[in-house]
Amino acid sequence: MIWNQSRECMSRDEMNELQGRQLVKLVKHMYHNAEYYRMKMKLLGIEPGDIQGMEDLDKLPFTTKQDLKRADWGELFAVPQNEIIRYQTTCIAAGSEVMIGYTKNDLRIWKECAQRAIHTAGQQNTKELQSLIQDDMLWAEKSALQKSAVKENIICDLCRFAGSWFAGACKYQKGMHVQEDYFLAEVLDANTSTAVPDRCKGELVVTTLSKEAVPLIRYKTTNITSIHHERCECGRTTARIEKFCERADEVLLIRGNTVFPSYIESVLMDLEDIQAHYMVSVKKEANLDIVEVFAEPDEPGCFSYTDDEILKSKIARAVQSAVGMKPRVILAENHSIGNFEGPKVTIADDRSL
Ligand SMILES: [Zn+2]
Repeated sequence: MIWNQSRECMSRDEMNELQGRQLVKLVKHMYHNAEYYRMKMKLLGIEPGDIQGMEDLDKLPFTTKQDLKRADWGELFAVPQNEIIRYQTTCIAAGSEVMIGYTKNDLRIWKECAQRAIHTAGQQNTKELQSLIQDDMLWAEKSALQKSAVKENIICDLCRFAGSWFAGACKYQKGMHVQEDYFLAEVLDANTSTAVPDRCKGELVVTTLSKEAVPLIRYKTTNITSIHHERCECGRTTARIEKFCERADEVLLIRGNTVFPSYIESVLMDLEDIQAHYMVSVKKEANLDIVEVFAEPDEPGCFSYTDDEILKSKIARAVQSAVGMKPRVILAENHSIGNFEGPKVTIADDRSL
């Protein structure tokens, strides 16, 4: 069942228009009420009137984890204290907790998103989800969530942002539906901070379109994901993001290219004739980044020298497609890499040693 048909199933054009309207309103609200953002926009020479809709999104500055740590607590709040009816400490990014507040309207939206999350996940999860959300309501989220393995499984299919139910997977399990009328999700190239095409990986950047108490504009989450905008089999038209695979600060930079460890893993896993355990090492030689791949042939010693060379160039081509440069491939002895209990691909960055 879809909790809010008119919002979760609207056309892409309608959604774009709605997000544009919300963005214009949000920028005005923040400029006039949140000291921190007013200063930030003034520094860039931007005024609220410069933002007319989604087409002006790129003009707005990013907000980083460091910004939130640096800002004085009060500077982030965009409403007077007497309008805040609840406070909550939230883990806005790993290792970084901030105090946020909710106005009456913020809580109304929070509840709406929670209801949608319950219905998006489907009936089978309803009881666990309801108790999870009740835990939230008691503001005991962190300790309660960590205690329960069942709950951790559910959390894998849901995603919260700044304390709100930002996205959740439906029964088709093809990405997490973003509550786009309340949250604007961008997926940007980690180097250039420009949008990547649909289904390509990049950093998730979130704007809280409707929050009143502590809104955030273009918050760089450091989570790596991809986004796409096709209508889902469940009927929802909202954008879907993939479950987070790694964080932007774990991404490798090899000869100026952004390389996702999970991408190296997926191209290696697709190869035949080699065992499913690999080691990838990145090091510096004569000031140049070098990638070495250690792999085990399925039947070592059974091939001729020519067969080995063919296998090596096949591995090299696959890895080159992931890292943007030709790696050095070393065929290793049988059972010399990893074990069947451990991770399939070990990636070591030895450049800082
Ligand atoms: Zn769906």
